[in-house]
Amino acid sequence: MDYADIDPSTWVVSSGRPPATADNPVNEPIVPASTFHAGGPTEYAREGNPSATALEVALGGLECGNAIVFASGMAAANALMDLWPVGARVLAANTAYTGVAVRLRELDSRGHIHLTTCEVIDSDFILSQLTKSDILWLESPTNPLLEVADLELLISHAAAHGVTSIVDSTFASPVRQNPLKLGADFVLHSVTKILSGHSDLLMGAVVTKSEDDWAKLQTRRVLLGAMPSAFDCYLALRGLRTLFVRYEKSEANAIELTSQLETHPAVSRLRYPGWGTIAAIEVVGNADLVCESTALWTYATSLGGVESLLERRRRWPLESETVPENLIRLSFGIENPADLWLDLDQALRNSNQR
Ligand SMILES: *Cc1c(COP(=O)(O)O)cnc(C)c1O
Repeated sequence: MDYADIDPSTWVVSSGRPPATADNPVNEPIVPASTFHAGGPTEYAREGNPSATALEVALGGLECGNAIVFASGMAAANALMDLWPVGARVLAANTAYTGVAVRLRELDSRGHIHLTTCEVIDSDFILSQLTKSDILWLESPTNPLLEVADLELLISHAAAHGVTSIVDSTFASPVRQNPLKLGADFVLHSVTKILSGHSDLLMGAVVTKSEDDWAKLQTRRVLLGAMPSAFDCYLALRGLRTLFVRYEKSEANAIELTSQLETHPAVSRLRYPGWGTIAAIEVVGNADLVCESTALWTYATSLGGVESLLERRRRWPLESETVPENLIRLSFGIENPADLWLDLDQALRNSNQR
């Protein structure tokens, strides 16, 4: 069975399982061992574990490439950065994920790379910079401004100029976009978010177009000590099995509630691409008070879980100044939309009165 022959929603359920022989378990067993009897491919658990391999098979097929998992999304991002030669010219989204943006600025200020930042929606500027770039680091939609890049245009031009392209596709997930199919070299995911989907683990992944790049990242993972645990890989694959039903339900909730938020008197601006499970609102009243006034919506960072979460992003000191102070990021879960609406609406009205 190959992922090219079946729908991704079928692949994610049927792939990454032990061979179908009598009495074999239907799920890859968790192997709690740091070391293995000598002579096989995995001698030591920093190099891999069977649950990670099963997860990589499933995720690789979803993105039509070679997946490798890391201990967090940031560990995956750092492994990618560790592939770059000193002096690499990097063109990157200025409102990329905070941790990524901070790391890129650090590498630039230490003289490891030359960083140029861009708005992912400013295609003309990005195209004009490609001849002066080695690496194009895109995120789309962006966290938390929900800006959507013209990936097809940018990736094809990057490829034509020999620029390596990396797309952080955490918000879209393989349900909504496959950057490798557009010609990207690397896709980055925070598996912590909707891929695992239950806010119960930290993990990252890179999916590569070439097997060579996969092997280089495998070496980085071993040397940087960024291997996720067997138990977390088991949980992540268990969560990934239901990716499509969770994504579609969360997205339906997002579409329904954002259409109501658009005209809400306490909302001055709605940011929502029209698809996906994340939105952001700018509120008229006190944004912290909105977050503190909900009962069903949980006031917490992160996103992509089955439970709806909200957060004022600028409460984080390192968040980009391009993010408005009164912006609240909404991560839509799979609850009943009428219940979610009642809760959010009362919190917005309550904070707008004071
Ligand atoms: C959360 C996130 C990351 C970082 O992933 P961690 O698993 O938290 O290390 C990277 N990019 C995006 C878009 C994210 O939302």
